[in-house]
Amino acid sequence: MAAPVRRETDAVAADISMPSLKSLSAVSPLTLRLVAECPVSKARACDLALPHCAVPTPVFMPVGTQGTLKGITSDQLEDLGCNICLGNTYHLGMRPGPALIEKASGLHGFMNWRRNLLTDSGGFQMVSLVELSEVTEEGVKFKSPYGGDEILLTPEKSIEIQNSLGSDIMMQLDDVVSSTVTGPRVEEAMRRSVRWLDRCMAANQNPEKQNLFAIIQGGLSLELRKACLDEMTKRDVPGFAIGGLSGGEEKDDFWKMVSLSTDHLPRHKPRYLMGVGYAVDLVVCVALGCDMFDCVFPTRTARFGSALVPWGSLQVKHKQFAKDFKPIDPDCTCPTCKRHSRAYLHALFKNDTAAMHHVTIHNISYQLTLMRSVRQSIIDGRFPDFVKTFMKKMFPSSDKYPGWAVDALRSVNITLDQH
Ligand SMILES: [Zn+2]
Repeated sequence: MAAPVRRETDAVAADISMPSLKSLSAVSPLTLRLVAECPVSKARACDLALPHCAVPTPVFMPVGTQGTLKGITSDQLEDLGCNICLGNTYHLGMRPGPALIEKASGLHGFMNWRRNLLTDSGGFQMVSLVELSEVTEEGVKFKSPYGGDEILLTPEKSIEIQNSLGSDIMMQLDDVVSSTVTGPRVEEAMRRSVRWLDRCMAANQNPEKQNLFAIIQGGLSLELRKACLDEMTKRDVPGFAIGGLSGGEEKDDFWKMVSLSTDHLPRHKPRYLMGVGYAVDLVVCVALGCDMFDCVFPTRTARFGSALVPWGSLQVKHKQFAKDFKPIDPDCTCPTCKRHSRAYLHALFKNDTAAMHHVTIHNISYQLTLMRSVRQSIIDGRFPDFVKTFMKKMFPSSDKYPGWAVDALRSVNITLDQH
C-alpha cells in the first residue's frame, strides 16, 4: 500500500542544476538526499553523505570530550550503530594539542574512529567553563585552565585547530551569549557571529574534505533570528546549526525559535539543533524539521545511575531494584540489557565504575534506537501516530503532557490524544 509521502530522489542534483551563483561555488564534501517528508508535520528523513560514511537522519550524535566518550570505546560505539559523534575542540586543542593529533593522522586516527566526527569551535566551552573570558571583535580571550596563560581564540585559530583535527563537520566560532540575556548585547553577538562566519569560511584550508556549518544566533528575538537567517543563508555553507538555545530559556520561547529557523533554512541542507537530547525534545524538534542533535545529557546522566527508558528514566541505584532481575528495559536489545539485570547493576554501582559503563552503553543505545524508530516512522508515513504513541508511553496521563510540547506539536498539525 502506498504511503502518502512526498519523495525526492535527487534533490542535490536538482539544486546544482539551477543556473544560480551556487553552481559556481566549490562542491562541498556533503550531500543531503531527502528520503521522505512527513505530509502532516515538518519532519523529514534524509541520507546525509559525509566523507567517512553515510548518516541516516534524524540522528543523535553522542558527545566525546578528550577524543573518547566517557566510559565507552570506539569499537563499542561503532557496534551500537553510531555513524557520527562529537569531538571537543576546546579540550583537544588544549591537551594533547592539535600538533600531536595531526601526527596521529587527525582525530580519526588518534581515537581510531572510522566513521564521522563533528567538532565544535571551542568557543562555547570557553564561555561556559572559563570564568575569565572576554569577547572582542578579534576573538575570545581567556586564561588557559591548564597553565594560566592568556589565549586568544579567533575564528581563524578555531578553524586551524579543527583543520588539524580533520573532522568531517566543523562548527564556526560564534559569539555566544546566554539565551536568557536580553538587550543590545544579543544583536551585537548575532551580527558578530555573521562576520566571524565569513572569517571562518575564508580560513578553511580543507573545504574539499571538511564541511563548515554556520550557527544561527539571535537569542529569543524573532526579528534578530530572522535577520541572522537572512544573512547566513546568503552564504554557501554546507549546513546550518541552530545555536544559542537550550540554555535555561522558557520552552515556549525555545520551540518557537526552532520552528522559525526551520521555516527559513534551505530544504536541501542539514539542520543541526545544538545541545538538545531529552527524548521528548528530540521527537518534538524532529516534528519541527530538525535533522541532527547532540547533548551530553544521556552519557552524563548514566554516570549518576540514571537509565533512559520509554517511560522516562530508571534510577539503578534506588533500593527498589536491589532484587529486581529484569533488565533495565525488557524491550531493549543493547548489550547491557541482553546480559545484566537491574539487581546486578544496582550492586555494581556501589563499588565499581563498570556500572557507569553499562548504563552509558544502554543510554546511547536508547538514543540511537529512538532516532531510528523516528526515521522509520517518517519513511512509512506514520510519524504523527508514532509521536502520539511515544508521548502516551512517556506520560502516564495526558494531563502530564508538557504544555510547550502540546503547543509545538499542534503548530505542525499533530494533536495529541487525551487519555
Ligand atoms: Zn539496554
